[in-house]
Amino acid sequence: MDLKQASDQLEQIRNQSLEFTYMGSVASYIPELAKVERHQLGVAVCLPDGTILSAGDAEVPFSMQSISKIFSLIVALCQNGKDYVFRHVGKEPTGDPFNSIIKLETTESHKPLNPMINAGAIAVAGMIRGANVDERLDAVLALMRKMTGNPHLSINQAVYCSEKKTADRNRALAWFLKDSGILETDVEETLDLYFRHCSIEVTAKDVATLGMVLAADGILVNTGERVIPEEVARICKTFMVTCGMYNASGEFAIDVGIPAKSGVAGGIMATVPQRMGIGVFGPSLDEKGNSVAGVKLLELLSKEWKLGIF
Ligand code: GLU
Repeated sequence: MDLKQASDQLEQIRNQSLEFTYMGSVASYIPELAKVERHQLGVAVCLPDGTILSAGDAEVPFSMQSISKIFSLIVALCQNGKDYVFRHVGKEPTGDPFNSIIKLETTESHKPLNPMINAGAIAVAGMIRGANVDERLDAVLALMRKMTGNPHLSINQAVYCSEKKTADRNRALAWFLKDSGILETDVEETLDLYFRHCSIEVTAKDVATLGMVLAADGILVNTGERVIPEEVARICKTFMVTCGMYNASGEFAIDVGIPAKSGVAGGIMATVPQRMGIGVFGPSLDEKGNSVAGVKLLELLSKEWKLGIF
């Protein structure tokens, strides 16, 4: 890859996608997210040798929200093994919105369909072990700090408190899971862990680096150290394809064709096996919760660089 040419193309595609920040709206159900300037758009690409290319608002911090569900899943799988984890959460995509409650009652086992919807991610948070919430969060933060090489990653307190105060829907999901026996740990503590890992603050550059580690099947780019078992990395990438873009995952697979996970703060982490990690930040969302400009940008980039995996 000619780095100068790639960098110019990235800049061009980012600028071309900027007009899409006028579409959609920023998430407002978490009041703190409603304050974010909607016309921001940043992209970063991390290559296998650790080189980072970027354009636009690639160093603006934002909260991970649902992108963090990948990392809580990694910790839960590493601590408990996949048999235990998948006894409590399923592996199937859903056509329902990310915070939907309906299938929890209608599915026979009451198991959330997958770990990328809120109910599934709350069940996963319940499986993260530690003496208290701080220790359980530290397990997620430690993994992400190692993967990014950024020891300063931490949570955005304002976003955390804002979600904690307003998360009635997530509380309903968690109490339902508790009643069904899916959630075995304390409800409020588990929710607290979930809100905290959703509010971990990153930049598009951090997200690109995280995506590159997954692209390398769990190996750190610059040291060659394995930080995630290969099978766990494979499971995560598969969930990114089938459920990573909420109930638009099928459309995204066709239009973009890259494993990706988005969050309602406007971030998207994409991972192109063996080739690159991509981090995008564009806070204006479509009705399914995906960054409008971010999805457009990835679509253009995928076409230009032939990144689709199918
Ligand atoms: N913390 C957010 C919630 O639970 C995450 C949702 C998302 O990014 O999809 O509603």
